[in-house]
Formats: sequence, structure tokens, C-alpha cells
Amino acid sequence: MPLEVLTVPCLADNYAYVVKGPDGVCLIDAPEAGPIIDALEEKGWKPGVLMITHHHHDHVGGVEELREKYGLKVMGPKAEEGKLPPLDMGLTEGMNGGGGEGYTVPIDVPGHTLGHMAFHFPNAGALFTADSLMALGCGRVFEGTMEQMHDSLQKLAALPPETMVYSGHEYTTGNAKFALTIDPDNTALHERVKKVAAQREAGEPTAQVSLAEELATNPFLRTSDAGIRATLAMKDASDAEVFAEIRRRKDAF
Ligand code: ZN
Ligand code: FE
Repeated sequence: MPLEVLTVPCLADNYAYVVKGPDGVCLIDAPEAGPIIDALEEKGWKPGVLMITHHHHDHVGGVEELREKYGLKVMGPKAEEGKLPPLDMGLTEGMNGGGGEGYTVPIDVPGHTLGHMAFHFPNAGALFTADSLMALGCGRVFEGTMEQMHDSLQKLAALPPETMVYSGHEYTTGNAKFALTIDPDNTALHERVKKVAAQREAGEPTAQVSLAEELATNPFLRTSDAGIRATLAMKDASDAEVFAEIRRRKDAF
């Protein structure tokens, strides 16, 4: 049975995900409970597990209401245990759970927060990245260093390119405008910007995309690209330095 993923818009621009695998239904992040409950009820699904990516309020605001309603097990990064709602299980990198398409492995992706985790479903080719790798962008580096965030993104970039990436916010339109200033001659990027505009016009989410498409268009993954390095006048810099410069420019954009 293949994995079924529901994208659930929450708050102003967040996404929660409902993932149905062979072992049951699991939730990824809970910005608020209402829209997630509606999505579950429409399907007649009852979740058993909720996995949290990081401690920011817009990812955990609905946890207690969902816990109470469904009696689900709450899991999240052990490293952020003190900042999260009480965890039934603290996760560390490489731990795994579930089976078949639902087999899940957490990956440490520090930078945005120090304990941020992405959840990889290798048998299903799905990756839930929240505010680490984002569609055409990445999260702001609040707690970690630029170097850490760069390493985190590189770790995700090394997964199979056909992996579907599901990120935490609908920021793609703004990210696209910025990406064009860093990588103006990238035809794949121009194509994607057009696609994103059409999707938004149709009211569709755009933060769910293949890793291959990200690798071809996301400037934060393309630090070794000669064109980007020329635009930034950073021909001989390290990849981490190029990443840091792109992130700084984005912060000021
Ligand atoms: Zn966040
Ligand atoms: Fe967020």
C-alpha cells in the first residue's frame, strides 16, 4: 500500500501533513488543531502518532488539543525536549519506526533551531522538512550557525533526487522573487517561477516538490554553481561561505 499524504494549510501560511502508511496514520507538525481535525474527519482517519520537527509555536500550537482528542503519541527531537510539549518519545537521528512505506527515520537538520529534525520515509521516497529545506528557499538561521544550516541542507540534498520534499510554509512566491536575483540565468528556475505563479493563481499549495527540482532551482542548494558564484563575485569562496552570503541577502531582501 502506498503512502498517502494530505497537505493541510494552517494559520496564515503553515502546512501540517497527515501521512497514512500501512501501520496507521501519523501527523507531522501541528500549527493548530482545527484544520487537521477537519482533514482527518473528512477521511475518517484516526492518527496514532504526531511527530514534531522543531519547537516554534507555529509548529506545535495544536499539539495538546490533538493529543487530548485522539490520545496520540507525541514524538519530537529529544534535543528540544525542554521547549516542546511533553514528549512520549524523544527522537534522535537514525532512530527508526514504522514499517514498509511508513518506515521513518529522523534526520538532524540544525540551523533554524538547534534541534530541528526532518522526517524521511525512505521506502516511500518522502521527506518532511518544515523550516530546514523549503521550496526554493530555507528557514532563517535563528539558533545555529550558517555553517550548520549549510551542512543540514547538504545532508538532505544527498538523498535520492526522486524524493518528494514537503516543507512547512507557503513561502514559495517570495522565495522565487529572491531566487531570481541570485540565479537570474537559470532556465529551470524561470520555468519553476512560472509554474508556481500558475499554481498560486489556482489556489494550490507549492511547498511540495521533488528534490530533483529543488536541486535544479533552489539557490541555497546551488552554492557550487558557477553562474551563482559569478553573480555574487565569490568565485573562490567555500560552499558554506556562498550559502551564508545568499542567506544574508535573503534576510535583507
Ligand atoms: Zn520555525
Ligand atoms: Fe515555521
